[in-house]
Amino acid sequence: MSLIRKVQSIIEKPTAVGSAVECACCGRKSRRFLPAGVENKRPFARCAWCSSLERHRLVALMLKKNPLLANSRILVIAPEIPLLRIFKDVTGGKVTTADLFMAGVDVQADICALPFADGEFDVVVANHVLEHIPDDRLAMKELRRVTKAGGRAILQTPLCWENEVTDEDAQANEAERVRRFGQADHVRLYGRDFVTRLQAAGWIVTAKEVSAMFTAEEMARYGLESDEVWCEIS
Ligand SMILES: [Zn+2]
Repeated sequence: MSLIRKVQSIIEKPTAVGSAVECACCGRKSRRFLPAGVENKRPFARCAWCSSLERHRLVALMLKKNPLLANSRILVIAPEIPLLRIFKDVTGGKVTTADLFMAGVDVQADICALPFADGEFDVVVANHVLEHIPDDRLAMKELRRVTKAGGRAILQTPLCWENEVTDEDAQANEAERVRRFGQADHVRLYGRDFVTRLQAAGWIVTAKEVSAMFTAEEMARYGLESDEVWCEIS
């Protein structure tokens, strides 16, 4: 954590004391969630205590609804701290972290050529990774290969559910990528064919809109985004 973030974190904690909202990752209650995102565009996004975001809390809630098996072997690519705690402490899983560039992971690995045996893991997690990978279809196949039959995947990514087809363009320059894909290092913005790409890689996928799975009160209490789609991937 940078020094500025550390100071910000110390200052903002007292302002968050309260019980109107609840973080599904760390279990702490707060008066409100705090702003996050580009230019703080999401005003109620971040937990003051563990810095979880909407998407982390969604995973935590879904794991409560549908827990992992005890002692699951879990591969986490590009690990995120709020979720890593849950995979390790709450599920009691045997976690292996991996990434090509990130420091401090267990295994330095390319998602398109994973150094693991077929079916080595019960669960694979790669959140906010696939939108960065030029050959995402190969990455999806690799993830399927290292996951045992009947295993599960958590693969969160920016996605525009209104678009039938993924918008991608290998020739797009940085400005074009920001405009079309939301970030300079994203190579695409997925549409609904995210599901068919996963199916082509061997995954079984069922998509559900998050707003249909939680009440409005739950959405507000846990700070979830109403336009998210949850895909059950196994
Ligand atoms: Zn929290």
